[in-house]
Amino acid sequence: MATYQDAPHVIRTPSAEFDKVHDPGGAALYSGIYRCIRCGYEIAIAAGHTLPPQSHPQHPASLGAIQWRLLARATHNKYSSIENHAYQ
Ligand SMILES: [Zn+2]
Repeated sequence: MATYQDAPHVIRTPSAEFDKVHDPGGAALYSGIYRCIRCGYEIAIAAGHTLPPQSHPQHPASLGAIQWRLLARATHNKYSSIENHAYQ
């Protein structure tokens, strides 16, 4: 489970982007933390980089295939504030 300390800089934003499931080998659409929905393993990855099977522990067959879901999206606007955190 991801953790944080500085709550004013993390905001909950409902978006369908957090519901999408991605296969290994595809490009990460956003920079941030992705979580395997099968086992809970988390990775940090930059946008455009390949969602890995290679650094992920192998699953027992009972868990099914590795599937990634966006857990936390990084923003790159240093002037961002709570007022303009509407998800794009
Ligand atoms: Zn997994």
